[in-house]
Amino acid sequence: MNCRKVNSKLADLLLDPQSVSAELRRHVEECVECGRELAELRATMGLLDDWAAPEPNPFFDAKLLSRLRSEEQARPVGLWERWKARLIYGSSLRMQPLMAGALGIVVLIGGGTYADLSWQSHHSADESAAVRDLQSLDGNAQVFQQLDSVDQSASQDDQDSGPASPSSN
Ligand SMILES: [Zn+2]
Repeated sequence: MNCRKVNSKLADLLLDPQSVSAELRRHVEECVECGRELAELRATMGLLDDWAAPEPNPFFDAKLLSRLRSEEQARPVGLWERWKARLIYGSSLRMQPLMAGALGIVVLIGGGTYADLSWQSHHSADESAAVRDLQSLDGNAQVFQQLDSVDQSASQDDQDSGPASPSSN
C-alpha cells in the first residue's frame, strides 16, 4: 500500500475508522509522512467543526435581557412622546386600533364642540333677532318722536307764518 492511496483514505479513517482496512491503519501508524498528514487533517477538521458550530456566548441572553430592560426604562414618559415612539418603533398592528380610538375621540370632541358651537350660534341668532326687534321698536319710537317734533315744528311754522302762508297764493 503506497502513501498516495493512504492519503485518499485519511478522511475516511478520521470520520469512520471501521470503514478502512487494518492494513491502511497500520500503514498510517508506521509511516511518518502519512501519520503527519493524518494529524494535519484532524486539526483542520477540528477547526472546521469549531467554525461550523461556534459556541454561543453564555452571557448573550443575560446581556440581551438587560439591554431590553434599559431600553424599556429609557422610553419617553409623556403620553404624546410615547405615542410618537410607538409610531416610530412600535408595530403598526398595535398602533392601528390605538390610532383609530384616538381619532374616534378627536371626532367625538370635535363633533361635540361643533354641535355646541352651532347650537350657540343658533341661540345667539335668536338673541340677536330679539335684540333686532327691540332695536327696530326703539327705532320706530325714535321715528315717531321725530315725526311728532316735525309735526309740532310744522304747526309752529304755520302759526309763525300767519297770513304769509303759501295757501294765500
Ligand atoms: Zn505513508
